[in-house]
Amino acid sequence: MFDVAVIGGGVIGGLILRELSAYDIKICLLEKESDVAMGQSKANSGIVHAGFDAKPDSLKAKFNVLGNRLMPQITKELGVKYKNNGSLVLAFSQEEMKTLEELKSRGEENGVEGLEIISQEELIKKEPNVSKKAIGALYAPTGGIVCPYELTLASIGNAMDNGAELFTKFDVCEIKKDVDFIITAEDGRQITAKAVINCAGYGSQKIANFIGDFSFTVGGRKGEYILLDRQSGGFASHTLFCTPTKKGKGILVSPTVDGNILLGPTAEEVDFDDRTTTSNGLQSVISKANEMCQGVPHHTAITSFAGVRAYSDRHDFIIEESKVQKGFFNCAGIESPGLTSAPAIAKHVAGELIGKTLNLKKKENFNPIRKPDYFFSELSVEEKNEIIKKDPAYGRIICRCEQITEGEIIRALTENPRATDIDGVKRRTRAGMGRCQGGFCQPYVAEIIARVNGTDIETVTKNGKGSELLVGKTK
Ligand SMILES: Cc1cc2nc3c(=O)[nH]c(=O)nc-3n(C[C@H](O)[C@H](O)[C@H](O)COP(=O)(O)OP(=O)(O)OC[C@H]3O[C@@H](n4cnc5c(N)ncnc54)[C@H](O)[C@@H]3O)c2cc1C
Repeated sequence: MFDVAVIGGGVIGGLILRELSAYDIKICLLEKESDVAMGQSKANSGIVHAGFDAKPDSLKAKFNVLGNRLMPQITKELGVKYKNNGSLVLAFSQEEMKTLEELKSRGEENGVEGLEIISQEELIKKEPNVSKKAIGALYAPTGGIVCPYELTLASIGNAMDNGAELFTKFDVCEIKKDVDFIITAEDGRQITAKAVINCAGYGSQKIANFIGDFSFTVGGRKGEYILLDRQSGGFASHTLFCTPTKKGKGILVSPTVDGNILLGPTAEEVDFDDRTTTSNGLQSVISKANEMCQGVPHHTAITSFAGVRAYSDRHDFIIEESKVQKGFFNCAGIESPGLTSAPAIAKHVAGELIGKTLNLKKKENFNPIRKPDYFFSELSVEEKNEIIKKDPAYGRIICRCEQITEGEIIRALTENPRATDIDGVKRRTRAGMGRCQGGFCQPYVAEIIARVNGTDIETVTKNGKGSELLVGKTK
């Protein structure tokens, strides 16, 4: 019997779980996939938005600005890479300059600090590769970047280190309320909890429907991206947006915390299962990036991917106790700026909403600190040698592109939340994220997974059942 069951292992469920793990209660996370951070929190832009975009007085505006302020501290505690690189919204016409003025005053109303409209000359000084057709920009010094799945994994890992339980492959298919909530998974497993928090992203409408809550719907909007190799890393240092339209923030050009350049996303209404990239979508990313900047190094592209935004018909975040069932809380329709807002949403849900339902008492031994997941390549030779002396596995490089060692891979397979497949190792260590995209290291990673888990290599998958790499032995 749990005090609280959180449904959905994305950044919202993950950070709520972490906040709750600071209290003296029994909590669990239920995730339908074989790993956490598999929904929107896996594939997005990774921008810590300043907060000038959302309508004043909306939940998006409130949590965006608060989340932006909390992000440096939370990422420091969790050992997650974060950079306060600042953002620039580019204007290409006098009409767009007027929109920048509107964004500036909207941002100021939302509480964003330091917003400034800068001239073409100042813009080119900050970003020499921006198109000379840009006539000015809105500069937001509080904008930043973070790795979304690293933040999700670290928050869930830290919560588990503090006593939270994780159930993967737990596809919630029924919720009944007796005295407490009885949550049933498709494979028949059952969990009982006094309170339930629905953080199921694209699945949140279905989860709410299980308790008879039909107060919102959730739709899907796909965004396609192109990722450029680290060799293009210096191309832009700020996050560059075009002036937003009614359809959204549009395509951006941004550095990532790992030193790549990200181009995208598009915006297209789709089903949630559609994570495909298309030639039309990628072509529109290339064209827009070329309008915004000159000499975009497209030839350094190493991969493309897509993420699907889960937006609600209320066009704002839904963060509330259900009107149908006491003790059941919806965190639904958390589209952009959901990643930025997550630390603030988590504090609000754990402290205010759950705090009022259960009599929460802080744990004395809560440890908010987690060691960074991948760090080895950044150490000095002396520091590396020290670690290799203690554990020779750190002396064997497995991923040449990203310089990831066997020691880091073994750590990803044994620490909370444990990786179980090749993509899980990739998200935790960056093995396979470099220029060759795993072409060299994938078989070695598969061997290590089989060895550490004591299983046959034929059972090792890329990303869950049905993606086995090997079909049998030849000799
Ligand atoms: C293309 C794109 C770009 C974005 N860019 C940014 C950005 O730059 N900055 C920013 O702040 N925000 C951005 N966002 C928004 C941000 O990614 C989301 O707000 C955030 O990731 C939402 O997290 P979540 O935990 O609510 O959902 P998710 O990450 O989708 O997690 C939901 C989880 O619930 C699980 N689940 C679903 N159904 C069930 C079930 N029946 N049983 C058990 N588990 C279930 C899913 O498998 C999933 O793991 C972007 C989003 C997209 C898609």
